[in-house]
Amino acid sequence: MKNKINLRMYLVGLVATVLTAVLITASFYQISETEVWKQLEKTGKIFSCAGTDLDKLRDMSGSVNNYYRVTMIDHDGTVLFDSRMDISRMENHADREEVISAKDGRISKVTRKSDTAGKMTHYYAMEIGQGKVLRIALESDALNKTYLTVLPFIMLVAFFVYVLCFFLSRSLTKRIIKPMEEMAKGNTSAPYPELEPFAQSIKERAEIENIKTEFTANISHELKTPLTSISGYAELMESDFVKSKDIKEFAGRIHSESKRMMTLIADIMKLSELEDSGITYSFEKFPISGVVRECLSSLELSAENHQVTLHMEGKDDVMVYGERKLIAELIYNLCDNAIRYNYMGGSVKVSFSERDDDICLNVKDTGIGIPEENHKDIFRRFYRVDKSRSKATGGTGLGLAIVKHVCELHHARIKVVSKEGKGTTIMVIFPR
Ligand code: ADP
Repeated sequence: MKNKINLRMYLVGLVATVLTAVLITASFYQISETEVWKQLEKTGKIFSCAGTDLDKLRDMSGSVNNYYRVTMIDHDGTVLFDSRMDISRMENHADREEVISAKDGRISKVTRKSDTAGKMTHYYAMEIGQGKVLRIALESDALNKTYLTVLPFIMLVAFFVYVLCFFLSRSLTKRIIKPMEEMAKGNTSAPYPELEPFAQSIKERAEIENIKTEFTANISHELKTPLTSISGYAELMESDFVKSKDIKEFAGRIHSESKRMMTLIADIMKLSELEDSGITYSFEKFPISGVVRECLSSLELSAENHQVTLHMEGKDDVMVYGERKLIAELIYNLCDNAIRYNYMGGSVKVSFSERDDDICLNVKDTGIGIPEENHKDIFRRFYRVDKSRSKATGGTGLGLAIVKHVCELHHARIKVVSKEGKGTTIMVIFPR
């Protein structure tokens, strides 16, 4: 990329330099030519003062002979005077373009190859009375000579401009590329506003990559713990260290650890399913009360074990728009937590209502609460405020991460209101 930008900049510099040189040259030539005609006109006017007096014309032309050629032509084309040529050898000039034009009373300016001198020449001719024509000529060599003296200077300037372009393009390329190289090294702040989307996508990719690595490490760790226990219990049983009366208890432990593993794997699968953008869900409008009832009834046993009472409050006609299974999963996870993180004799109330443009679902418990500083973290995967309680009650650390995903899929907002030791209310606000 660096070489490409460099090469393109050199080429742009080269084209610009060549174009500038050509344009300067062309303009210079144009200006010089205009200047030549002005000079010829001035000289013509001065020489016309001599009128038809040949001696005077001879005297005057002597001083400028190196530069201008002065000729006087009679009305019939006979050359009466020429400052450089022998007039006896000169042919009739009646057919010369500038002479014909000047005879018509006009001032004529003609550039052509001289028939007498054989060189490209600028002719300025005018009638000076009695049909006689005064002609001042300047060979183009003179103009070319001036031009050729300036040309090396133009080329030199062009060369210096190109060398300057060369170094400027190198330093400019470096300055353009450097921030990109920094970005590639991991510095994700965009150096130019145009690179903001690029920086953003690098940032997002790095974040996703981080989350994936962290997630994989966490999964391995979470699976290793129950597997180590299972393997340990099985090893003890295998080596006859366990008394026959304890075998039942050990088998029970193996059973509960494997159940924990299965729940964990099921949660991981649910999460990866929710993250799979290729899955299309069938959304429908349905009464939320039915789903709440089903969840509460499936959690009755757990509530009984924790000595927690379950309540529901809300009208049967409150409808929610979404994927039934996912919303059931969300309500289940919230209620499950409300039971597991509750005190003995506590209660859980699930209420739902319509509010302007929203459907509001509240899961309120009278449990241990969540410290304020942990509110923002509880939706992260495998994040637990009370690790031992989570594990002891069969938590996987993924329940609220699933809730968060379901909310995102339904464009629902989620709010946590909690006070340590008093209880927690989690609000989910679905758009109608
Ligand atoms: P877990 O499977 O550990 O319950 P979750 O993702 O469901 O994982 O919840 C994350 C953490 O948030 C829990 O470990 C717990 O510390 C805290 N938590 C969630 N719900 C409640 C609640 N209703 N009351 C108190 N703490 C809660």
